[in-house]
Amino acid sequence: MTGDQTNTATSGPSGPYLAEGLPAPRPASDGLDEPYWSAAREHRLLVQRCETCGTHQWGPEWMCHTCQSFEVGWVEASGRGTIYSWQRPHHPVHPALRDQGPYLVVLVELDDADGVRMVGNLLGDPLQEVVIGAPVEAAFEDHAPDVDGVEPYTLVQWRLAAG
Ligand SMILES: [Zn+2]
Repeated sequence: MTGDQTNTATSGPSGPYLAEGLPAPRPASDGLDEPYWSAAREHRLLVQRCETCGTHQWGPEWMCHTCQSFEVGWVEASGRGTIYSWQRPHHPVHPALRDQGPYLVVLVELDDADGVRMVGNLLGDPLQEVVIGAPVEAAFEDHAPDVDGVEPYTLVQWRLAAG
């Protein structure tokens, strides 16, 4: 196994970061965030960018928060950022996580998107020391359909980046 496997969080035998059984995310029925989920399936990270004033924003909105334009499009981000904040939950917040804790949740500030921040899990040892400002990169965690016919989806997680 080589190539783009290195960019896939689930390429090893360990499976997804959090236990199976959590509700699968679905694009909103109004279609607003569909470009984000489709790109994630292709291991690309999209954020919104206003076509009037050029400001990036996240999460998805119909209107630019900076200039109130409705001309909001999507652009690809590098997937690189830094840890802005983090949390290490020890208690399960969902029955599927009963045997999971602790795990790491990070708020990542993207390097190339006007400082927008995204929430995800920090891959690796859940007991590792987490440093505010540490460089991270997106890791795309693919989920196949389950027995209930849930559409495949990909979660954007985060891993520490080299130097
Ligand atoms: Zn704008």
